[in-house]
Amino acid sequence: MSPKINAAWHLASRPAGLPTAGNFEWRETNLPELGEGQAQVQTIWLSIDPTNRIWMNDADSYLPKLQLGEVMRGIGIGRVLASRDAGLQAGDLVQGMLGWQRCCVSPARALSKLPPLPLPLSAHFGLLGHIGLTAYFGLTDVAQARAGETLVVSAAAGAVGSLTVQIGRNLGMRVVAIAGGAEKCRWLSDELGADAVIDYQAEDVADGLARACPEGIDVDFENVGGRTLDAVLARINLGARIALCGLISQYNASAPEPGPSNLAHLLMQRGRMQGFIVLDYLDRAHEAAEKLIAWHLAGRLKYRLDVSDGLESAPSALRKLFTGANTGKVLVKVSDE
Ligand code: NDP
Repeated sequence: MSPKINAAWHLASRPAGLPTAGNFEWRETNLPELGEGQAQVQTIWLSIDPTNRIWMNDADSYLPKLQLGEVMRGIGIGRVLASRDAGLQAGDLVQGMLGWQRCCVSPARALSKLPPLPLPLSAHFGLLGHIGLTAYFGLTDVAQARAGETLVVSAAAGAVGSLTVQIGRNLGMRVVAIAGGAEKCRWLSDELGADAVIDYQAEDVADGLARACPEGIDVDFENVGGRTLDAVLARINLGARIALCGLISQYNASAPEPGPSNLAHLLMQRGRMQGFIVLDYLDRAHEAAEKLIAWHLAGRLKYRLDVSDGLESAPSALRKLFTGANTGKVLVKVSDE
């Protein structure tokens, strides 16, 4: 029996700085009737991502900005409860922009049916999906990573960062991981195999890079930006590549931050800094999935989930990403599988 009432978090106001509970409004509404070509989906897992914060701004990004009052945008995995499209049946597991809500009615063509995996359903977010693709293609395609090179990864104990560290090791790189706090750094070196770690809460990043990268940096997988990126730029080698994945240190800023002051080093070293968005790699997802699953099953690629229970917890789960309270992939468990 499909539910008739939905519950959802709506965007109530745009954040100034770190998002607060007051930026969201909880509403319970009637679900619309299913139209031709639509499916009703019950959310199981909701992915909480730094980009959620970007979508809340009063500006378009790689996606149009959210309008005030809209259901908060979010990527989810859910089960089809009812369908009026030949391509989907009740019971199918799908992924898509399900939003911060218990149920959604979506065009079936906007949903991707999930293949069965020899792994838990949540692995579609912890290991694969947009997280796995970002780490894999950011390193192999954007950064053109090669065995024997020195790789630096920032926000290294997070979802993307922790996979990137291990993929770098699997590709034969020397990996230097930057993260906040002793516990995260211990996990990175003891369990994920980072060759060196820099705890930026205990040590200046520039000093840490001088210690950990005596022969310079060939590849930077940049998740943080700001002073971290500046410190990296100062130590890059000839022909270095910087995969500009994210700038999380800037997402809560109310005005643009000053740019990196070490760009001269990028010039002198003939370095390349390239931004990328994971959406550009969706048509190559199978390539990454094959590798990521094989490494995982061989014990060479671990992932950790940071799970909050219940849709009600989504706003506080989002804050974790900016306070560093998470280790690994932040997910909200909305309903049972
Ligand atoms: P994470 O799981 O890495 O969580 C964010 C982490 O960032 C926190 O745990 C915290 O770790 C660190 N952090 C937060 N604020 C700061 C700060 N001011 N300075 C330094 N570190 C900070 O999130 P994701 O893995 O989902 O995302 C990581 C990055 O990848 C983000 O920048 C995101 O935007 C980007 N991304 C880009 C994609 C693309 O297509 N280009 C796709 C997916 C993600 P710590 O405790 O170590 O500080």
